[in-house]
Amino acid sequence: MSTVPEMFGCMVFDDKVMRARLSADVYRSLRDTMNKGKKLDLSLANAVAAAMCEWAVENGATHFTHWFQPLTGITAEKHDSFITPAPDSHVIMEFSGKNLITGEPDASSFPSGGLRATFEARGYTAWDPTSYAFIKEKTLCIPTAFCSYGGEALDKKTPLLRSMEALNREAMRILKLFGRTDVKHVVTNVGPEQEYFLVDRDMYLKRKDLIYTGRTLFGARPPKGQELDDHYFGAIKPRVKAFMEELNEELWKLGIYAKTEHNEVAPCQHELAPIFTTGNIASDHNQLTMEIMKKVARKHNLVCLLHEKPFAGVNGSGKHNNWSIATDKGVNLLSPGETPYDNAQFLLFLVAVIRAVDEYQGLLRMSVTSAGNDHRLGANEAPPAIVSMFLGDELTAVLEAIETDSPYEGTEKHRLRLGADVLPRFNRDTTDRNRTSPFAFTGNKFEFRMVGSNDSISCANVMINGAVADSLRIFADRLENCEGDFDTCLHDLIRDTIKEHKRILFNGNGYDDAWVKEATEVRGLKNLRTTPDALQMVLDPSNVEMLTSQKIYTETELHSRYEISMENYVRTVRIEALTMVDMARKEILPAVVRYCGDLSAGLNAKKAAAPELACAYETRQIKRLSVLIDGIDDATEVLERSVLALEGDNTKQAFHIRDEVLCRMAELRALCDEAETMTAASYWPFPTYGDLLFGV
Ligand code: ADP
Ligand code: MG
Repeated sequence: MSTVPEMFGCMVFDDKVMRARLSADVYRSLRDTMNKGKKLDLSLANAVAAAMCEWAVENGATHFTHWFQPLTGITAEKHDSFITPAPDSHVIMEFSGKNLITGEPDASSFPSGGLRATFEARGYTAWDPTSYAFIKEKTLCIPTAFCSYGGEALDKKTPLLRSMEALNREAMRILKLFGRTDVKHVVTNVGPEQEYFLVDRDMYLKRKDLIYTGRTLFGARPPKGQELDDHYFGAIKPRVKAFMEELNEELWKLGIYAKTEHNEVAPCQHELAPIFTTGNIASDHNQLTMEIMKKVARKHNLVCLLHEKPFAGVNGSGKHNNWSIATDKGVNLLSPGETPYDNAQFLLFLVAVIRAVDEYQGLLRMSVTSAGNDHRLGANEAPPAIVSMFLGDELTAVLEAIETDSPYEGTEKHRLRLGADVLPRFNRDTTDRNRTSPFAFTGNKFEFRMVGSNDSISCANVMINGAVADSLRIFADRLENCEGDFDTCLHDLIRDTIKEHKRILFNGNGYDDAWVKEATEVRGLKNLRTTPDALQMVLDPSNVEMLTSQKIYTETELHSRYEISMENYVRTVRIEALTMVDMARKEILPAVVRYCGDLSAGLNAKKAAAPELACAYETRQIKRLSVLIDGIDDATEVLERSVLALEGDNTKQAFHIRDEVLCRMAELRALCDEAETMTAASYWPFPTYGDLLFGV
């Protein structure tokens, strides 16, 4: 077996391979394309394609595919083999520059939210040279963007690239004002921590809810849940360890920096964190990570559940999106500096994020919304649906001192003059790691914790990048036109921004009822609990204005995304509701009826043998079970009718689901869960919470 450094990236057409296999000229042109977005002409593309093909074939590949991220949420690929007929019934392995640069998947099977009705029916994929090609299952995968012929984005990568460009553009204006002429480019760095559950595959296959919906729709609480925390601190079980080892190897081969793995709070919940990389690649890598997690789990007779809430009453899964901005020189712009001037620049970027999160809180909430994530964000679980920001006590005190022009109560007591004073050293807040905060500053990066475990991180990053770019644009406009002393203008800008947007700052407990009241009633923050509510933010005029003026989305694209997301929500919940109906009728009711029947037969036999016996237990059980049986039957009918009543456009259906179907689902579940606690274990038709949670 090879060592980790040898194995790392062995399936990636990365810089090392490019250098080794491309001529100096071709390499330089390709680098220009990658770094500066210069167009690659066809002869160069042909040279790159030939080298790629040769490398891929040597590494066992037989096919190539344009790998892209349509709006369905998963990745898509259409495989073509490299074979090309040659004389004498021979074939050669060939791949052209044209094959590399564009492709034409059949767009009709991917959602377009009405875009195709108004535009061309076909879509095309276009090579994204900023993300390396890689080999997966004997296939050379070329990361691509997916667009309609009218140029509308039909995928998640295109807006992400556009948002990174917007942020680069506006951040460069700011850096110029600070005289940083050496900087050529600004990028975002992202490290997404991925949470997941592992369950035994044999048990999984006995549960239709897990198979069809990825989460349990029924299940009474087991006697033991996550209250002891023993899983979090406990050793990783051998079977899980074996899974993690293989997962790491597979990810390393693909050049993914899988770094940390540990158990999470809930039984059979775990987390994987990679080392951060640029936003676009982080997003590609996260998609691959999820795919490979599922694949590797299967080999260990496990199933990896990526749903945000696989088990009611047990901690859900999310993705912590660690985000920062850095220059091409590797300088983190969210890192407090050493000199007064660096500090001022840091504070400017910091308040840019504060303004962005406050101004576009609705968009950020929207960017992570889904039927699955509603179970986390809308329920009593961290993080809450209200977007707020945690800075820690020390940094908050610094901002307060600037805002009120009062002495900072730090090491030395004096008024802070930006550009003149060194900021007091504030330590990274390690004691009070506020786990409930949706958007937390953790020393030199922000951690956006609302992203769902199953979701692409793309949309969240698009909105963060866009919102921050918007702040930087407004700041640059003001500073470029500043008359007089730059330091004074800067100081005023930072102070004004803090004043105007400090309502978003909150260091307390995010799932306190008092916070909900204060946030909504005193501070006027948004509390968007469900997907239909949150999705309205896509169409909000000021959000549309920001995203279109930054050239991240067109208005048409935004409308199409709204429709697709609403439709996804409707479809997801509809499938859940119908699965419940099916399981209740075909599995739960028959099991409970059978148990109740056997109890009755036993009771009759006992009474026949000894009529004087009271048989109180059996009688009580039979009575309660009979009531439950009728209740379940009624509730199933009612739920089915509420699903059949879904009509009208996506929005109308989504609101009907929010107000009606979800309640009917909860009612049916409550009855079935009670029946479970009263039915003998040997009669219950599928594995219970206890079996699933403690069965690995
Ligand atoms: P924490 O202790 O705050 O969770 P870690 O160092 O464990 O921080 O990192 C968590 C995740 O954040 C990892 O994916 C890591 O690579 C990522 N990360 C660290 N620094 C940055 C940064 N400057 N920008 C983006 N992500 C980062
Ligand atoms: Mg974490």
